[in-house]
Amino acid sequence: MAQVSEDQVLDALKRVTDTDKGRDVVSLGMISGLVIKDGNVGFALEVDPADGERKDPLRKACEQAVEALPGALSVTVVLTAHREAKEASPPPAPTASPPPATTAPATDKPLVPGVRSIIAIASGKGGVGKSTTAVNLALAMAADGRKVGVLDSDIYGPSMPRMLGISGRPSSPDGKMLKPMENYGVKCMSMGFLVDEDTPMIWRGPMVMSAIEQMLRDVEWGELDVLVVDMPPGTGDAQLTLAQKVPLTGAVIVSTPQDIALLDARRGLNMFRKVDVPVFGIVENMSYYICTECGHRAEIFSHGGARRIAEQLGMEFLGEVPLDIEIRETSDSGQPIVVSRPESEQAQTYRRIAERVTARIDAALGEGARKAPKIVIQ
Ligand code: ADP
Repeated sequence: MAQVSEDQVLDALKRVTDTDKGRDVVSLGMISGLVIKDGNVGFALEVDPADGERKDPLRKACEQAVEALPGALSVTVVLTAHREAKEASPPPAPTASPPPATTAPATDKPLVPGVRSIIAIASGKGGVGKSTTAVNLALAMAADGRKVGVLDSDIYGPSMPRMLGISGRPSSPDGKMLKPMENYGVKCMSMGFLVDEDTPMIWRGPMVMSAIEQMLRDVEWGELDVLVVDMPPGTGDAQLTLAQKVPLTGAVIVSTPQDIALLDARRGLNMFRKVDVPVFGIVENMSYYICTECGHRAEIFSHGGARRIAEQLGMEFLGEVPLDIEIRETSDSGQPIVVSRPESEQAQTYRRIAERVTARIDAALGEGARKAPKIVIQ
């Protein structure tokens, strides 16, 4: 079958009318970021910030119009709201937190019913091993008998498909909800399944949040004990909004021993504190080195910095993971060490860290229960 072209998509969208404005979405300039890859179509629908999710039916109409095209295998439309007109913004909420980068209205509905807890794995910058830590912790929790999902929200560089050894595209039997992909007993959703890894995508802050909200809301996660969110690296607006909008139970910060990274780690801690998300603690990754020839443990320059910083900042130090070729090779080849060599010292290290994290999750959920509103009888 011939693959769908950009012109065909735009033609189909010209038949979708925004009833508020009485014109079609293309001539209104609402379509942006159109990407087509192997019959998979993705684009953003830009709406007025004041309209927010009220425009979701229009988003669905766009999705359906493109889906109807022969040759369109999947269609992902994200609703974005570009904050421009200051006077149109809602009055600031009476909190110390800065305004969110997206204006999709907060809803009281749980984003992901059936999911008991959501934890973020974050880092101040890229390349510190955040995704490697996230995948091994998720697998360690699953090995402990928990029902686990992984949401790869690192949409700039999604690595979960590769790390979990999953390829292909998620299916949508009912045409509404996507079924998460699954391997090693862990469910996973990632932009990497929807767009090609080599396709450069330009994401603006609001688009990031919209895509992530859809990966939370429009995916059949089912019953999960823990949803592990692999955050985009860094502490910019997109990350702050994510931390603010996703109902996080807590966060884990991954850092390398280098001081510069630790400065970034502090930023990460402050970001979560700003939005009242408890930081469960810090993991020092690539913390020491085991010589492959003699098995001797070699210390790395500025090792231990994460532990010191954690103590200074009153955070728990969750553990240290060695710089280790097997950790690298296994995660890069889709067989993370926790599943491929569960008896290894490295896998045990991840299991111990995962136990500390799950203890913190359980404590946080318990606290939540205690904080339930008092019943007042009048
Ligand atoms: P991030 O998510 O922070 O960008 P990744 O998890 O993608 O980082 O890791 C970056 C690279 O470092 C990957 O090739 C990964 O395999 C490797 N890596 C991560 N942790 C370790 C480790 N403890 N030992 C050796 N290599 C590691």
